[in-house]
Amino acid sequence: MAKKANGDKMGCSFCGRNYEAVSRLIQGNTNIFICNECVEACHMLLKKDQKHVPVKPLGKVHIPEQIKATLDEYIIGQERAKKTLAVAVYNHYKRLITSSSDEGVEVEKSNILLIGTTGSGKTLLARTLAKILDVPFAIADATTLTEAGYVGEDVENVLLALLRNADFNLQRAQQGIIYIDEIDKIARKSANPSITRDVSGEGVQQALLKMLEGTVANIPPQGGRKHPEQQYIQMNTKDILFICGGTFTGIEEIIRRRIGKRNIGFDAQNRDNDNSNESLGDVLSRVEVDDIINFGMIVEFVGRLPIIAPLMPLTQEDLIKVMVEPKNAIVKQYQKFFEMEDAKLEFSHEALVEISKIAHERRTGARALRSIFESFMLDAMYHLPSNKGDSSFLVTPAVVRGETPLLAQKYRKIA
Ligand code: ADP
Repeated sequence: MAKKANGDKMGCSFCGRNYEAVSRLIQGNTNIFICNECVEACHMLLKKDQKHVPVKPLGKVHIPEQIKATLDEYIIGQERAKKTLAVAVYNHYKRLITSSSDEGVEVEKSNILLIGTTGSGKTLLARTLAKILDVPFAIADATTLTEAGYVGEDVENVLLALLRNADFNLQRAQQGIIYIDEIDKIARKSANPSITRDVSGEGVQQALLKMLEGTVANIPPQGGRKHPEQQYIQMNTKDILFICGGTFTGIEEIIRRRIGKRNIGFDAQNRDNDNSNESLGDVLSRVEVDDIINFGMIVEFVGRLPIIAPLMPLTQEDLIKVMVEPKNAIVKQYQKFFEMEDAKLEFSHEALVEISKIAHERRTGARALRSIFESFMLDAMYHLPSNKGDSSFLVTPAVVRGETPLLAQKYRKIA
């Protein structure tokens, strides 16, 4: 149809061009038309305005109590850290819903700093959160990062890892969680800003700072170093939640000194004595921003990590709980393997105590557990598939210590 009902030639009601001058003309309800080029132009206009349209968070938004309850299924202890994270994460994703409306208060993003000894659950917390929220997750090691231009990995590669884990869905990646481990290892060697630039420490903090604040980063899609001819993916980090973790070995001394100083003047001597008896966990729970700055993190960097959650070192009792209680507890996992081979695996309480003792001595928190289990379970796991049947195994302290092998006993099925 080349003519309108009234006999006029058809054309775009927006730009006025004749139907012959455009490749597509779309008719509205009446004698109104729009050409393909005007549709494109409108689309671009709307896209430009997109920042005013509230974005729907891609992950599931849970209330803090729900988040904490799910964290409880996987993480033993760390009550304060779990609560702090539950609130922080809820607020973060809530902020995504409201931040794009330009009315009212702009809620700043609150990245998180986890401080705690090795194997106390920092990585596990970050990973579990991402799972609960159903958002992409990536882990980076701060020690491998460098400022652009130095030998090492550019900080942008961390974003690439997140993008990969989001199957290159940019929108999903831009609402993901990045965990940066060993953040304390990029501390300045001295708390006083040095005259010479500290490439490995302060420089990386500066480079990371931009990402934490929110920036549009150019990501080389193939990874590796940037070069001028390359096409980049532009990734906005303003809605990415960064969780940084570190052991901050020695920070307890800084905290103790500060607490000690504060109390000079009233009962200082008794206080000092109290402090020396305080456990590492108690001291860590008093950590403040100044302590982290004194440790060697730059002021601006700490400013971008407003939520600080200390994690307690796991006690021997905690380690026993770690072995048996979480949904994916190591004891449950081994028992499942045995069940799949029609066998039964039990652990005496004393055996669990023995394992927790060995793990505790290694001073790597719950990290030590897996290798301890593997050392005494290996032989039984090796022979199990060839000796299928109704057999039962009991792990005793002697088995854990390697004094006796873990041998099968025929067991009578209890009806
Ligand atoms: P970190 O990052 O603090 O060094 P991880 O989170 O990597 O420690 O812990 C290593 C492993 O130890 C975890 O994968 C988990 O199996 C176990 N683990 C550590 N802390 C806990 C905890 N609080 N509750 C349950 N399991 C834990």
